[in-house]
Amino acid sequence: MNLRIQCQCGALHGEVSHTERALRGVCYCKDCRAYSHHLGQAAVAHDSLGGVEFVATQAQHVTLTAGTQHLACLSLSEKGLLRWYARCCNTPIGNTTRNWKFAYVGLLHTCLTADPASYERDFPRVQMRVNTGGARETPPAMTFSTIAALLGFVPRVMLSGVNGAYRQTPFFNAPAGTPRVEAIVLTKPERDRARAAASHA
Ligand SMILES: [Zn+2]
Ligand SMILES: [Zn+2]
Repeated sequence: MNLRIQCQCGALHGEVSHTERALRGVCYCKDCRAYSHHLGQAAVAHDSLGGVEFVATQAQHVTLTAGTQHLACLSLSEKGLLRWYARCCNTPIGNTTRNWKFAYVGLLHTCLTADPASYERDFPRVQMRVNTGGARETPPAMTFSTIAALLGFVPRVMLSGVNGAYRQTPFFNAPAGTPRVEAIVLTKPERDRARAAASHA
């Protein structure tokens, strides 16, 4: 199934296909919280335990059809994840690694819930919780079904790196594999400020 991707102001949009192969998860790490504080999105992005909800998919299933001139990218550190967002309204879109051959994308729920009913239809439950050590309280443990789902997902991502499917991505230029827009690395004061805000709220 397909689900619409859209920033909060609607200028940037597209879709994610094969949602039946994607996994709905929550990340409790401090970096995800620092990032949403930096963008001024903490109130919309975080759940009550400080988790950030995402959908794990492959880059080849993501297309951006309009407003791509608003696509921006930042990273908390020189080697950190590339965190893609829509500059028009600071909506977090998705996170990738710096290596486009690892064609994983964690789409943030902030760009997937323009139609909440469709989101819940495609992803009726949270299937994985990661970095739970950073949560405010202990979240529910991963279930067997989650582990089984992950065992199907990871090989598909690895396969994309071998069969060339990774070249189909809205986040990197083919054939060079360079990020489509230059990643801005936060300065130390910016990072410290974001992390301090994230540890308080
Ligand atoms: Zn926007
Ligand atoms: Zn995280």
